[in-house]
Amino acid sequence: MKDKTTNYFLVLSLIKKHDAITRTYLAKLTGLSNTSIGKITNSLILDGWIIEKNGQDNSLGRKAKLLTVNPDGLYSLGVEIEKEYTQLAIISFDGRIIKSKKVINEFSPPDSIKHYLDWLSQIILCLMNEVQARIKEKIIAVGISVPGTVDATNGMVVDSSQLQWSNVKLKNVMEKKLNSEVYVENHVRSILIAEKLYGGLKHEKNAVCLYIGSGLGTSVMINGEVARGSNNSFGEIGHMIIDPNGPLCECGRLGCLQTYLSLESIKKQYGKNIQKFLEDYYNGCKGANMLMTKIQQYLNIVISNILCMYNPNVVLLCGPLFYDFEIFKEFLHENAGEYVWEPLKTNFKLKDVENGRISAMLGASSLVIDEFFKSK
Ligand SMILES: [Zn+2]
Repeated sequence: MKDKTTNYFLVLSLIKKHDAITRTYLAKLTGLSNTSIGKITNSLILDGWIIEKNGQDNSLGRKAKLLTVNPDGLYSLGVEIEKEYTQLAIISFDGRIIKSKKVINEFSPPDSIKHYLDWLSQIILCLMNEVQARIKEKIIAVGISVPGTVDATNGMVVDSSQLQWSNVKLKNVMEKKLNSEVYVENHVRSILIAEKLYGGLKHEKNAVCLYIGSGLGTSVMINGEVARGSNNSFGEIGHMIIDPNGPLCECGRLGCLQTYLSLESIKKQYGKNIQKFLEDYYNGCKGANMLMTKIQQYLNIVISNILCMYNPNVVLLCGPLFYDFEIFKEFLHENAGEYVWEPLKTNFKLKDVENGRISAMLGASSLVIDEFFKSK
């Protein structure tokens, strides 16, 4: 692909961005002549990246030939590593899942990273062998999503309390094992990338994913770009201190936000599992009722603080707290505005993740496509 010009990839990414576009509009956007656009798009068609279809030129209101990416032009393989399981899929250029697998981790990742990564490379290679050769040949790279702090530039898992990994050179190790390019990203950022490419954030530029699971975190998109911060920790609001005399957090400090609002904290505060807590709540138990009021108050505070900090158009609710327990999602959809400062109330929308539980895996594969276009 080295012989291709910059304009070749510029035109390809514009076609991807616009879903369907005419040659005339491409010439207008790029400033290239109609002849150059004609040559480049013909070459993109011959190379299998794009296809031509009949459609309508909205600016002229008449029938026109539209160019769109070839859904089978390339494939990527996305992997989501979680504490208990690993989920992986081969995904087409337009986000269709071709083949997927969810496997309970055979080696518990914290016990033996080396064994786990050997096993992981085996299940990835197996999945690649389960699809037709014409698809396998077009898998351009592997994307991996991991819970924890990830240095995406170097593909390193800096710290993951869920997996109990620190300084794992995941990209290096997996590239050697798979003989393929590998990208690594934090799981909440992976969700943001997936929703940007295929879900409810497609037309948004400023958005936040609020993830609540065993911990709490956000990923943030500012002016269309994923924010990472100087230390890859942008959006780690779960470790904002709410009360310096509060409960002990996994980070070793006292009173972090996630010690008040996370699945883990609800379990600790109630002394029983979430199902039992909700059962007691529905049966009118006083203790459960008090805790629910407190959780709901923190949910509203988090939304209000997110809006003050990042001023997004959309806050996307994701993570097991919302996937597994509708009550929290429903509460926020009805009450999220309670503490929000008046000027921030306009234009603000609360949304659910469109791709649900597979969004981190989908995000890991989207990352590959995102990087592919950036590197051209
Ligand atoms: Zn903390």
